[in-house]
Amino acid sequence: MRAAAFLYPWDVVGDPRAAARLAELGLQQVTLAAAYHSTRALTPRHPRHRIVTARHSAVLYPPDPDRWAGRALRPYTQDWVADPDPFGTAARALTAAGLEVHSWVVLAHNSRLGADHPSSVVRNAYGDRYPWAPCIARPEVFDHLVRLAAEAAVRPGARGVELESCGWYGLAHLHGHDKVAGVGLGGAAEYLMSLCCCPVCLAGYAGLGLAEDEVPAAVRRALEPVWAGAAPPDGGGRAAEWAAVEELLGEETAGAVRAWRDRAACADGVVVPCTGDAAVRAAALGPFASRPAGTTLAANLTVVAGMGGSPGTLAADAAHAAALGADELRLYHAGLAGAADLAAVRGALRALNRSAGGRAQGSGAESAPPT
Ligand SMILES: [Zn+2]
Repeated sequence: MRAAAFLYPWDVVGDPRAAARLAELGLQQVTLAAAYHSTRALTPRHPRHRIVTARHSAVLYPPDPDRWAGRALRPYTQDWVADPDPFGTAARALTAAGLEVHSWVVLAHNSRLGADHPSSVVRNAYGDRYPWAPCIARPEVFDHLVRLAAEAAVRPGARGVELESCGWYGLAHLHGHDKVAGVGLGGAAEYLMSLCCCPVCLAGYAGLGLAEDEVPAAVRRALEPVWAGAAPPDGGGRAAEWAAVEELLGEETAGAVRAWRDRAACADGVVVPCTGDAAVRAAALGPFASRPAGTTLAANLTVVAGMGGSPGTLAADAAHAAALGADELRLYHAGLAGAADLAAVRGALRALNRSAGGRAQGSGAESAPPT
């Protein structure tokens, strides 16, 4: 089972030992951030720093001025890694250590872009803007994201690209000093609070046969009892959650909303967060049990114990994910993990690579090929 780990360029740039240390974990691939949102990240092993603060969304490479000339929406550059091309520098070191590098590109989650271009963000059924969430249905946002994905995908040294936040970012959002938990929403109500009702999306719903104001009116009507104190309808499991959405909006409205959203999202593979117990993994990977041939299903498991991960059960969890149909692993996150977490990862990947090597008869390869 092919194993990759997420990584930031600042985990490697300025640390001459980083690439070899990562290769020793038993990974085949590193998914390296090329365009990333704001964060405050620990770097427990770096010789020169312990905390990196990325103040805003930015590309971690020099963007091509010609590609962005004349565009209102353009990527932001960074100054928190002292290197003109942090992605390129890290990719070269990782490749030299024998690791394949994929470009990790965060698309429609960009608070600075949303703050600078308020007309381009998600608007909920009440008209409130979500500045962290550019609306991907809007032509100017779509054009920006396609250009960004294309530019970041072909960075020198990248052999693949993994896109994060390709759809509409919702209400759930890790925000500084959050105070939105006063009314528990649950999955279905949160979905309703995440539906975009900007003019472009309203036109999209209308194009699928709904009356112009149908979606925001239905959302407000459905949520009124929740704001008044009624328990939010919730399912437990995705099928039940969707059934609750259909009940809240009405089947026809819910179907049109889903069709509008599904139209914008298609890919040749998917990375599915499934950290948790066996039931969580089954619920997360289950919907992808039948998928088109030639597509990739990667199970994303957190291996940082301090962030809710379970590196000690990685081998068993990965085997369970494989039994549920996953072909690859994504481990979150090789830079943020402490020493004990990384030791557990190394042991688990050794066990997984050994068992895969035993199955791949006569391949002669030291690491396991994709299965
Ligand atoms: Zn919209």
